[in-house]
Amino acid sequence: MTSEGGAPGAGSTDGRRAVVVGGGISGLASGVALARQGWTVTVLERAPSLEPVGAGIAIAPNAVRSLAALGIAEQLRDLSALQGEYGIRRADGGWLVRTDAQEAGSLFGDRTLVLHRAHLVGLIADALPAGSLRTATSATVVEPGTDGRAARVSTSDGDLEAELVVAADGIGSATRTRWWPDAPSPGPADSTAWRFVAPAVPGVVGSESWGRGVVVGVMPLADGRVYCYVSVAHAAGVPRDLDELRDRLAGWHDPIPALLAAVDPGTVLRNELRALPAPPPSLAVGRTVLVGDAAHAMLPNLGQGGCQALEDAVVLGARVHPGPEVPAALLRWSQERRPRVEHVMRLSARIAGPTLWTSPVLTGARDVGMRLAGRWGAALGARALRPVMSWRPPA
Ligand SMILES: Cc1cc2nc3c(=O)[nH]c(=O)nc-3n(C[C@H](O)[C@H](O)[C@H](O)COP(=O)(O)OP(=O)(O)OC[C@H]3O[C@@H](n4cnc5c(N)ncnc54)[C@H](O)[C@@H]3O)c2cc1C
Repeated sequence: MTSEGGAPGAGSTDGRRAVVVGGGISGLASGVALARQGWTVTVLERAPSLEPVGAGIAIAPNAVRSLAALGIAEQLRDLSALQGEYGIRRADGGWLVRTDAQEAGSLFGDRTLVLHRAHLVGLIADALPAGSLRTATSATVVEPGTDGRAARVSTSDGDLEAELVVAADGIGSATRTRWWPDAPSPGPADSTAWRFVAPAVPGVVGSESWGRGVVVGVMPLADGRVYCYVSVAHAAGVPRDLDELRDRLAGWHDPIPALLAAVDPGTVLRNELRALPAPPPSLAVGRTVLVGDAAHAMLPNLGQGGCQALEDAVVLGARVHPGPEVPAALLRWSQERRPRVEHVMRLSARIAGPTLWTSPVLTGARDVGMRLAGRWGAALGARALRPVMSWRPPA
Protein backbone atom coordinates (compact mmCIF):
# COMPACT_ATOMS: atom_id res chain seq x y z
CA MET A 1 0.00 0.00 0.00
CA THR A 2 1.36 3.45 -0.87
CA SER A 3 2.45 5.43 2.17
CA GLU A 4 4.79 8.36 1.82
CA GLY A 5 6.16 10.57 4.58
CA GLY A 6 7.93 13.89 4.20
CA ALA A 7 7.16 17.53 4.93
CA PRO A 8 4.47 19.20 2.83
CA GLY A 9 5.35 22.29 0.83
CA ALA A 10 3.75 25.46 2.21
CA GLY A 11 2.66 27.17 -0.99
CA SER A 12 0.24 26.42 -3.79
CA THR A 13 1.54 24.65 -6.90
CA ASP A 14 0.63 26.47 -10.15
CA GLY A 15 -3.07 26.72 -9.31
CA ARG A 16 -3.54 22.97 -9.40
CA ARG A 17 -3.08 21.96 -5.77
CA ALA A 18 -5.87 19.80 -4.34
CA VAL A 19 -5.62 18.71 -0.70
CA VAL A 20 -7.67 15.78 0.52
CA VAL A 21 -8.26 15.38 4.26
CA GLY A 22 -8.75 11.69 5.10
CA GLY A 23 -7.40 8.51 3.51
CA GLY A 24 -10.47 6.27 3.66
CA ILE A 25 -12.28 5.02 0.57
CA SER A 26 -13.62 8.48 -0.31
CA GLY A 27 -10.38 10.38 0.25
CA LEU A 28 -8.22 7.93 -1.69
CA ALA A 29 -10.72 7.70 -4.55
CA SER A 30 -11.05 11.50 -4.71
CA GLY A 31 -7.27 11.76 -4.87
CA VAL A 32 -7.11 9.31 -7.77
CA ALA A 33 -9.99 10.98 -9.64
CA LEU A 34 -8.46 14.46 -9.31
CA ALA A 35 -4.92 13.36 -10.16
CA ARG A 36 -6.26 11.78 -13.37
CA GLN A 37 -7.61 15.23 -14.34
CA GLY A 38 -4.33 17.07 -13.83
CA TRP A 39 -4.61 18.18 -10.21
CA THR A 40 -1.50 18.03 -8.01
CA VAL A 41 -2.95 15.98 -5.18
CA THR A 42 -1.94 15.56 -1.54
CA VAL A 43 -3.93 13.10 0.56
CA LEU A 44 -3.50 13.55 4.31
CA GLU A 45 -4.35 10.65 6.63
CA ARG A 46 -3.93 10.93 10.38
CA ALA A 47 -3.45 7.21 10.99
CA PRO A 48 0.16 5.98 10.82
CA SER A 49 -0.74 3.57 8.00
CA LEU A 50 -3.73 2.56 5.91
CA GLU A 51 -5.13 -0.21 8.07
CA PRO A 52 -8.77 -0.19 7.03
CA VAL A 53 -11.24 -1.26 9.66
CA GLY A 54 -14.16 -3.37 8.51
CA ALA A 55 -13.80 -6.90 7.35
CA GLY A 56 -15.39 -7.04 3.92
CA ILE A 57 -17.34 -4.77 1.62
CA ALA A 58 -19.89 -5.25 -1.15
CA ILE A 59 -19.30 -3.15 -4.24
CA ALA A 60 -22.54 -2.71 -6.16
CA PRO A 61 -22.67 -2.25 -9.95
CA ASN A 62 -22.73 1.57 -9.74
CA ALA A 63 -19.49 1.48 -7.76
CA VAL A 64 -17.91 -1.21 -9.94
CA ARG A 65 -18.28 1.27 -12.80
CA SER A 66 -16.85 4.06 -10.60
CA LEU A 67 -13.76 1.95 -9.91
CA ALA A 68 -13.43 1.29 -13.62
CA ALA A 69 -13.59 5.06 -14.24
CA LEU A 70 -10.67 5.43 -11.79
CA GLY A 71 -8.64 3.04 -13.93
CA ILE A 72 -9.10 0.11 -11.54
CA ALA A 73 -10.92 -2.21 -13.93
CA GLU A 74 -8.32 -4.83 -14.76
CA GLN A 75 -7.81 -5.75 -11.09
CA LEU A 76 -11.56 -6.19 -10.55
CA ARG A 77 -11.73 -9.25 -12.75
CA ASP A 78 -10.23 -11.48 -10.07
CA LEU A 79 -12.63 -10.39 -7.36
CA SER A 80 -15.51 -12.43 -6.12
CA ALA A 81 -18.89 -11.69 -7.62
CA LEU A 82 -22.14 -12.87 -6.08
CA GLN A 83 -23.09 -16.06 -7.93
CA GLY A 84 -26.15 -18.26 -8.28
CA GLU A 85 -29.17 -17.61 -6.12
CA TYR A 86 -29.08 -15.12 -3.31
CA GLY A 87 -31.54 -12.98 -1.41
CA ILE A 88 -33.21 -12.58 1.95
CA ARG A 89 -33.86 -15.58 4.22
CA ARG A 90 -35.52 -16.29 7.54
CA ALA A 91 -33.53 -17.39 10.57
CA ASP A 92 -34.45 -21.01 9.71
CA GLY A 93 -33.11 -20.60 6.17
CA GLY A 94 -36.44 -20.38 4.32
CA TRP A 95 -36.28 -17.87 1.50
CA LEU A 96 -38.26 -14.64 1.82
CA VAL A 97 -36.96 -13.07 -1.37
CA ARG A 98 -34.92 -15.11 -3.80
CA THR A 99 -33.18 -13.77 -6.85
CA ASP A 100 -30.46 -14.81 -9.23
CA ALA A 101 -27.10 -13.04 -9.37
CA GLN A 102 -26.90 -13.38 -13.16
CA GLU A 103 -30.37 -11.87 -13.60
CA ALA A 104 -29.54 -8.99 -11.25
CA GLY A 105 -26.25 -8.50 -13.12
CA SER A 106 -28.06 -8.10 -16.43
CA LEU A 107 -30.69 -5.84 -14.88
CA PHE A 108 -28.14 -3.49 -13.31
CA GLY A 109 -25.50 -3.76 -16.03
CA ASP A 110 -22.80 -5.30 -13.80
CA ARG A 111 -22.39 -7.80 -10.97
CA THR A 112 -21.99 -6.97 -7.29
CA LEU A 113 -18.45 -7.72 -6.08
CA VAL A 114 -17.49 -8.70 -2.54
CA LEU A 115 -13.95 -8.10 -1.39
CA HIS A 116 -11.85 -7.56 1.67
CA ARG A 117 -11.69 -3.89 2.61
CA ALA A 118 -7.90 -3.97 2.82
CA HIS A 119 -7.86 -5.22 -0.78
CA LEU A 120 -10.13 -2.38 -1.98
CA VAL A 121 -8.18 0.31 -0.10
CA GLY A 122 -4.90 -1.13 -1.43
CA LEU A 123 -6.16 -1.06 -5.03
CA ILE A 124 -7.24 2.58 -4.79
CA ALA A 125 -4.12 3.72 -2.88
CA ASP A 126 -1.89 2.07 -5.48
CA ALA A 127 -3.59 4.15 -8.20
CA LEU A 128 -2.49 7.43 -6.52
CA PRO A 129 0.58 9.19 -7.95
CA ALA A 130 3.72 8.24 -6.02
CA GLY A 131 4.36 10.49 -3.03
CA SER A 132 0.86 11.97 -2.88
CA LEU A 133 -0.26 10.13 0.26
CA ARG A 134 0.98 11.33 3.65
CA THR A 135 0.09 9.12 6.57
CA ALA A 136 0.53 10.07 10.24
CA THR A 137 -0.59 13.58 9.26
CA SER A 138 -3.55 15.09 11.02
CA ALA A 139 -5.11 18.01 9.12
CA THR A 140 -7.50 20.87 9.88
CA VAL A 141 -9.19 23.05 7.28
CA VAL A 142 -8.46 26.53 8.66
CA GLU A 143 -9.75 28.49 5.62
CA PRO A 144 -12.31 26.92 3.27
CA GLY A 145 -11.51 29.35 0.42
CA THR A 146 -14.48 31.71 0.46
CA ASP A 147 -14.52 35.25 -1.02
CA GLY A 148 -11.84 34.54 -3.63
CA ARG A 149 -9.25 33.38 -1.10
CA ALA A 150 -7.18 30.21 -1.46
CA ALA A 151 -8.15 27.44 0.92
CA ARG A 152 -5.73 26.56 3.71
CA VAL A 153 -5.15 23.32 5.55
CA SER A 154 -3.08 23.18 8.69
CA THR A 155 -1.20 19.94 9.32
CA SER A 156 1.06 18.55 11.97
CA ASP A 157 3.92 19.25 9.49
CA GLY A 158 2.96 22.82 8.53
CA ASP A 159 0.31 24.59 6.42
CA LEU A 160 -0.81 23.86 2.86
CA GLU A 161 -2.57 26.27 0.50
CA ALA A 162 -4.94 24.78 -2.02
CA GLU A 163 -7.27 25.67 -4.86
CA LEU A 164 -9.46 22.75 -3.86
CA VAL A 165 -9.95 20.97 -0.51
CA VAL A 166 -11.78 17.67 -0.30
CA ALA A 167 -12.96 16.86 3.23
CA ALA A 168 -13.14 13.08 3.37
CA ASP A 169 -12.75 12.87 7.15
CA GLY A 170 -15.57 10.44 7.85
CA ILE A 171 -18.82 10.46 9.82
CA GLY A 172 -17.31 12.49 12.67
CA SER A 173 -15.91 15.09 10.21
CA ALA A 174 -14.33 18.01 12.07
CA THR A 175 -14.45 19.95 8.78
CA ARG A 176 -18.23 19.57 8.66
CA THR A 177 -18.61 20.65 12.30
CA ARG A 178 -16.44 23.73 11.80
CA TRP A 179 -17.49 25.02 8.36
CA TRP A 180 -21.03 23.63 8.16
CA PRO A 181 -22.15 24.65 11.68
CA ASP A 182 -25.84 24.22 10.80
CA ALA A 183 -25.42 20.74 9.31
CA PRO A 184 -27.23 17.95 11.15
CA SER A 185 -25.03 15.78 13.39
CA PRO A 186 -24.85 11.98 13.22
CA GLY A 187 -27.40 10.18 15.37
CA PRO A 188 -27.58 6.66 16.82
CA ALA A 189 -29.27 3.95 14.76
CA ASP A 190 -30.26 1.91 17.86
CA SER A 191 -28.37 -1.04 16.51
CA THR A 192 -24.98 -2.74 17.09
CA ALA A 193 -23.01 -4.37 14.25
CA TRP A 194 -20.34 -7.09 14.18
CA ARG A 195 -18.18 -7.73 11.13
CA PHE A 196 -15.62 -10.46 10.47
CA VAL A 197 -14.06 -12.67 7.83
CA ALA A 198 -14.39 -16.39 8.65
CA PRO A 199 -12.34 -19.25 7.20
CA ALA A 200 -13.86 -21.13 4.25
CA VAL A 201 -16.72 -23.50 5.02
CA PRO A 202 -18.44 -25.63 2.36
CA GLY A 203 -21.77 -24.72 0.75
CA VAL A 204 -21.88 -20.98 1.36
CA VAL A 205 -24.63 -19.15 -0.54
CA GLY A 206 -24.67 -15.32 -0.47
CA SER A 207 -27.60 -14.22 1.64
CA GLU A 208 -28.92 -11.85 4.25
CA SER A 209 -31.14 -13.42 6.92
CA TRP A 210 -33.67 -11.52 8.98
CA GLY A 211 -34.86 -12.49 12.46
CA ARG A 212 -36.48 -10.46 15.22
CA GLY A 213 -34.32 -7.34 15.31
CA VAL A 214 -31.35 -9.34 14.00
CA VAL A 215 -29.78 -9.37 10.52
CA VAL A 216 -26.99 -11.75 9.46
CA GLY A 217 -25.19 -11.33 6.12
CA VAL A 218 -23.04 -14.06 4.59
CA MET A 219 -20.94 -13.30 1.51
CA PRO A 220 -18.23 -15.51 -0.01
CA LEU A 221 -14.92 -13.84 -0.94
CA ALA A 222 -12.83 -14.79 -3.98
CA ASP A 223 -10.33 -16.79 -1.87
CA GLY A 224 -13.07 -18.95 -0.32
CA ARG A 225 -13.22 -17.12 3.00
CA VAL A 226 -16.55 -15.67 4.04
CA TYR A 227 -17.39 -12.09 4.92
CA CYS A 228 -20.13 -11.93 7.60
CA TYR A 229 -21.97 -9.11 9.27
CA VAL A 230 -24.50 -9.23 12.08
CA SER A 231 -26.63 -6.38 13.36
CA VAL A 232 -28.74 -6.54 16.49
CA ALA A 233 -31.35 -3.89 17.33
CA HIS A 234 -30.96 -2.56 20.86
CA ALA A 235 -34.62 -3.44 21.45
CA ALA A 236 -33.71 -7.10 20.82
CA GLY A 237 -31.11 -7.06 23.61
CA VAL A 238 -27.49 -6.74 22.51
CA PRO A 239 -25.15 -9.69 23.24
CA ARG A 240 -22.30 -8.65 25.53
CA ASP A 241 -19.58 -10.54 23.68
CA LEU A 242 -18.87 -13.00 20.87
CA ASP A 243 -19.81 -16.00 23.00
CA GLU A 244 -23.22 -14.49 23.70
CA LEU A 245 -23.62 -13.69 19.99
CA ARG A 246 -22.74 -17.32 19.14
CA ASP A 247 -25.37 -18.53 21.65
CA ARG A 248 -27.98 -16.15 20.22
CA LEU A 249 -27.42 -17.40 16.66
CA ALA A 250 -26.88 -21.09 17.52
CA GLY A 251 -30.28 -22.08 16.08
CA TRP A 252 -29.93 -20.09 12.84
CA HIS A 253 -29.58 -21.80 9.48
CA ASP A 254 -26.31 -23.20 8.16
CA PRO A 255 -23.58 -22.09 7.83
CA ILE A 256 -24.11 -19.22 10.31
CA PRO A 257 -23.28 -21.13 13.55
CA ALA A 258 -20.25 -22.75 11.89
CA LEU A 259 -18.94 -19.39 10.65
CA LEU A 260 -19.31 -17.85 14.10
CA ALA A 261 -17.60 -20.85 15.68
CA ALA A 262 -14.68 -20.67 13.22
CA VAL A 263 -13.86 -16.97 13.47
CA ASP A 264 -10.85 -15.76 15.41
CA PRO A 265 -12.36 -13.55 18.19
CA GLY A 266 -9.48 -11.07 17.87
CA THR A 267 -10.54 -10.17 14.32
CA VAL A 268 -14.20 -9.41 15.05
CA LEU A 269 -15.18 -5.75 14.78
CA ARG A 270 -18.03 -4.34 16.81
CA ASN A 271 -19.59 -0.90 16.18
CA GLU A 272 -22.56 1.09 17.34
CA LEU A 273 -24.27 2.10 14.09
CA ARG A 274 -24.75 5.83 13.45
CA ALA A 275 -25.91 7.86 10.49
CA LEU A 276 -26.53 11.44 9.42
CA PRO A 277 -30.25 12.26 9.14
CA ALA A 278 -29.59 14.11 5.84
CA PRO A 279 -26.70 15.65 3.94
CA PRO A 280 -26.05 19.37 4.58
CA PRO A 281 -28.08 21.68 2.26
CA SER A 282 -24.92 22.29 0.20
CA LEU A 283 -21.87 20.02 0.07
CA ALA A 284 -19.62 22.93 -1.00
CA VAL A 285 -18.35 25.99 0.89
CA GLY A 286 -15.95 28.16 -1.14
CA ARG A 287 -13.20 25.85 -2.38
CA THR A 288 -14.04 23.02 0.04
CA VAL A 289 -16.36 20.04 -0.43
CA LEU A 290 -17.57 17.22 1.81
CA VAL A 291 -17.46 13.71 0.33
CA GLY A 292 -18.21 10.20 1.56
CA ASP A 293 -19.38 9.66 5.14
CA ALA A 294 -18.47 13.26 6.02
CA ALA A 295 -21.27 14.31 3.68
CA HIS A 296 -23.77 11.47 3.80
CA ALA A 297 -23.01 8.72 6.36
CA MET A 298 -25.95 6.34 5.93
CA LEU A 299 -27.23 3.11 7.43
CA PRO A 300 -25.45 0.08 5.94
CA ASN A 301 -28.61 -1.83 4.96
CA LEU A 302 -28.29 -1.04 1.26
CA GLY A 303 -24.48 -1.44 1.26
CA GLN A 304 -24.11 1.91 -0.52
CA GLY A 305 -22.06 4.13 1.84
CA GLY A 306 -18.74 3.31 0.20
CA CYS A 307 -20.34 3.02 -3.23
CA GLN A 308 -21.69 6.57 -3.00
CA ALA A 309 -18.26 7.75 -1.83
CA LEU A 310 -16.78 6.29 -5.03
CA GLU A 311 -19.43 8.04 -7.11
CA ASP A 312 -18.67 11.36 -5.32
CA ALA A 313 -15.02 11.01 -6.28
CA VAL A 314 -15.60 10.12 -9.91
CA VAL A 315 -18.08 12.97 -10.47
CA LEU A 316 -15.74 15.42 -8.72
CA GLY A 317 -12.92 14.47 -11.09
CA ALA A 318 -15.20 14.79 -14.11
CA ARG A 319 -16.76 18.15 -13.20
CA VAL A 320 -14.10 20.21 -11.37
CA HIS A 321 -11.02 21.24 -13.30
CA PRO A 322 -8.15 23.51 -12.27
CA GLY A 323 -8.89 27.16 -13.13
CA PRO A 324 -10.79 30.24 -12.00
CA GLU A 325 -14.18 28.50 -11.95
CA VAL A 326 -13.48 26.07 -9.08
CA PRO A 327 -15.99 27.45 -6.49
CA ALA A 328 -18.79 27.61 -9.09
CA ALA A 329 -17.96 24.10 -10.35
CA LEU A 330 -18.07 22.80 -6.75
CA LEU A 331 -21.54 24.28 -6.26
CA ARG A 332 -22.72 22.59 -9.47
CA TRP A 333 -21.11 19.32 -8.28
CA SER A 334 -23.02 19.65 -5.00
CA GLN A 335 -26.29 20.27 -6.87
CA GLU A 336 -25.68 17.13 -8.91
CA ARG A 337 -24.65 14.87 -6.01
CA ARG A 338 -26.85 16.00 -3.12
CA PRO A 339 -30.26 14.79 -4.40
CA ARG A 340 -28.76 11.43 -5.31
CA VAL A 341 -27.05 10.79 -1.99
CA GLU A 342 -30.13 11.99 -0.10
CA HIS A 343 -32.27 9.51 -2.05
CA VAL A 344 -29.87 6.66 -1.25
CA MET A 345 -29.77 7.64 2.45
CA ARG A 346 -33.57 7.59 2.60
CA LEU A 347 -33.80 4.25 0.80
CA SER A 348 -31.24 2.74 3.20
CA ALA A 349 -33.26 3.99 6.20
CA ARG A 350 -36.49 2.61 4.69
CA ILE A 351 -34.92 -0.82 4.24
CA ALA A 352 -33.47 -0.71 7.77
CA GLY A 353 -36.88 -0.04 9.37
CA PRO A 354 -38.39 -3.57 9.26
CA THR A 355 -35.06 -5.18 10.21
CA LEU A 356 -35.29 -3.43 13.61
CA TRP A 357 -38.72 -4.89 14.41
CA THR A 358 -38.68 -7.28 17.35
CA SER A 359 -42.38 -8.03 17.86
CA PRO A 360 -43.32 -11.57 16.77
CA VAL A 361 -46.56 -10.22 15.26
CA LEU A 362 -44.86 -7.56 13.18
CA THR A 363 -41.95 -9.74 12.04
CA GLY A 364 -44.37 -12.60 11.27
CA ALA A 365 -46.49 -10.28 9.13
CA ARG A 366 -43.33 -8.92 7.48
CA ASP A 367 -42.12 -12.41 6.58
CA VAL A 368 -45.50 -13.58 5.27
CA GLY A 369 -45.83 -10.39 3.21
CA MET A 370 -42.37 -10.81 1.69
CA ARG A 371 -42.97 -14.50 0.92
CA LEU A 372 -46.36 -13.89 -0.66
CA ALA A 373 -44.96 -11.07 -2.78
CA GLY A 374 -42.64 -13.73 -4.29
CA ARG A 375 -41.17 -12.92 -7.69
CA TRP A 376 -43.47 -9.95 -8.02
CA GLY A 377 -42.01 -8.54 -4.78
CA ALA A 378 -38.46 -9.20 -5.98
CA ALA A 379 -39.26 -7.39 -9.24
CA LEU A 380 -40.69 -4.45 -7.28
CA GLY A 381 -37.56 -4.36 -5.11
CA ALA A 382 -35.36 -4.47 -8.20
CA ARG A 383 -37.35 -1.58 -9.67
CA ALA A 384 -36.71 0.53 -6.53
CA LEU A 385 -33.00 -0.34 -6.64
CA ARG A 386 -32.56 0.17 -10.35
CA PRO A 387 -31.89 3.95 -10.26
CA VAL A 388 -29.24 3.35 -7.57
CA MET A 389 -27.51 0.34 -9.12
CA SER A 390 -27.75 1.33 -12.80
CA TRP A 391 -25.92 4.66 -12.32
CA ARG A 392 -23.10 5.33 -14.74
CA PRO A 393 -20.17 7.75 -14.33
CA PRO A 394 -20.19 10.90 -16.49
CA ALA A 395 -18.62 10.35 -19.90
C1 LIG B 1 -21.44 -2.44 9.32
C2 LIG B 1 -21.15 -1.66 8.06
C3 LIG B 1 -21.17 -2.31 6.82
C4 LIG B 1 -20.95 -1.58 5.64
N1 LIG B 1 -20.99 -2.24 4.45
C5 LIG B 1 -20.83 -1.55 3.31
C6 LIG B 1 -20.86 -2.21 2.04
O1 LIG B 1 -21.01 -3.44 1.96
N2 LIG B 1 -20.73 -1.46 0.91
C7 LIG B 1 -20.53 -0.10 0.97
O2 LIG B 1 -20.41 0.53 -0.08
N3 LIG B 1 -20.47 0.55 2.15
C8 LIG B 1 -20.60 -0.13 3.31
N4 LIG B 1 -20.51 0.51 4.51
C9 LIG B 1 -20.26 1.98 4.52
C10 LIG B 1 -18.78 2.32 4.28
O3 LIG B 1 -18.01 1.58 5.21
C11 LIG B 1 -18.51 3.79 4.46
O4 LIG B 1 -19.49 4.55 3.79
C12 LIG B 1 -17.13 4.18 3.91
O5 LIG B 1 -16.13 3.40 4.51
C13 LIG B 1 -16.88 5.65 4.17
O6 LIG B 1 -15.59 5.97 3.74
P1 LIG B 1 -14.99 7.42 4.02
O7 LIG B 1 -13.67 7.46 3.36
O8 LIG B 1 -15.98 8.48 3.64
O9 LIG B 1 -14.86 7.52 5.60
P2 LIG B 1 -13.87 6.74 6.59
O10 LIG B 1 -13.68 5.34 6.17
O11 LIG B 1 -14.38 6.99 7.96
O12 LIG B 1 -12.48 7.47 6.40
C14 LIG B 1 -12.20 8.73 6.96
C15 LIG B 1 -10.69 8.82 7.11
O13 LIG B 1 -10.34 10.16 7.46
C16 LIG B 1 -9.30 10.09 8.43
N5 LIG B 1 -9.36 11.37 9.17
C17 LIG B 1 -10.36 11.82 9.95
N6 LIG B 1 -10.06 13.03 10.44
C18 LIG B 1 -8.82 13.36 9.93
C19 LIG B 1 -7.99 14.48 10.07
N7 LIG B 1 -8.34 15.55 10.81
N8 LIG B 1 -6.82 14.50 9.41
C20 LIG B 1 -6.43 13.44 8.64
N9 LIG B 1 -7.20 12.33 8.49
C21 LIG B 1 -8.38 12.29 9.12
C22 LIG B 1 -9.66 8.87 9.28
O14 LIG B 1 -8.52 8.40 9.98
C23 LIG B 1 -10.14 7.91 8.22
O15 LIG B 1 -9.08 7.15 7.68
C24 LIG B 1 -20.71 -0.18 5.71
C25 LIG B 1 -20.66 0.48 6.94
C26 LIG B 1 -20.87 -0.26 8.11
C27 LIG B 1 -20.83 0.47 9.43
